[in-house]
Amino acid sequence: MDEISGLAEMRAWSRARARDGARIGFVPTMGYLHEGHLRLVDRARECGDLVILSIFVNPLQFGPSEDFARYPRDLDRDRALAAERGVDRLFVPDARTMYPTEPSVRVTPPEGALGDSLEGAARPGHFAGVLTVVAKLFQIVAPHVAVFGRKDYQQARLVRRMVDDLDFPLTIEVAPTVRDRDGLALSSRNAYLSPAQRRSALALSGALGAVETAWREGLAAPGVQPEYLALVDEALQPVRQATPRTVALVAARVGVTRLIDNVVLGDGVAADPTVG
Ligand code: AMP
Repeated sequence: MDEISGLAEMRAWSRARARDGARIGFVPTMGYLHEGHLRLVDRARECGDLVILSIFVNPLQFGPSEDFARYPRDLDRDRALAAERGVDRLFVPDARTMYPTEPSVRVTPPEGALGDSLEGAARPGHFAGVLTVVAKLFQIVAPHVAVFGRKDYQQARLVRRMVDDLDFPLTIEVAPTVRDRDGLALSSRNAYLSPAQRRSALALSGALGAVETAWREGLAAPGVQPEYLALVDEALQPVRQATPRTVALVAARVGVTRLIDNVVLGDGVAADPTVG
């Protein structure tokens, strides 16, 4: 599998293949590849004739106190995994080629929940860095389809919005989250976890599993028609992030009878007094 690091060379290769009639699929990553990335490659292959995978640890999307310097990197291993999975070209630009000077024009995420909530709130500047590098990669690689993972849900929504708003001539595909057998979502950053932390990290997928089961089995049980499951604060405002004291409320019809209930997160239903 051939590797390209120059921007002009990548541009020329991709444009030449497109002129020959090939549909080009693109998977942008920061490397330290795992099965989650490789399933995106499979999806790109289903959507196109040729697959380009980029590996670039993008400094723009890391905050000053984040893990840019120690982000895991192993290009030899990535090369072997990408070749084995049938990637046609690896695009591995270096930071000085991508950003000879710090880019002064950046793609700004939209204001409001899409750009400012959750990861946007936790990591100021992160999504501007992501959208700027993705826009730049789209310009260089000029794919017909680009594949992103649902694990980074907000990122995938933002990329889709950018492509729609700015008329990038390509399609965005979003592929499901790939998990380890015990439920932990695969992530290059899992490499940071000690064995004990790796066990603790199951709290994330455990919580999501419990919410989804609550909806599916709890509220969608036979004879129950769910009306809503909401998370609000004490002023009844919907919350963007659940915290202790957030209230979960449900309403459902059981037969013709409409019932409501609620629980304060952290207290537990078991903390409510029972009769007898
Ligand atoms: P990253 O290298 O972490 O920037 O991720 C590159 C792409 O792989 C992004 O579109 C991610 O959403 C996707 N990705 C990362 N982890 C997973 C996973 N466990 N399952 C599916 N896609 C993933």
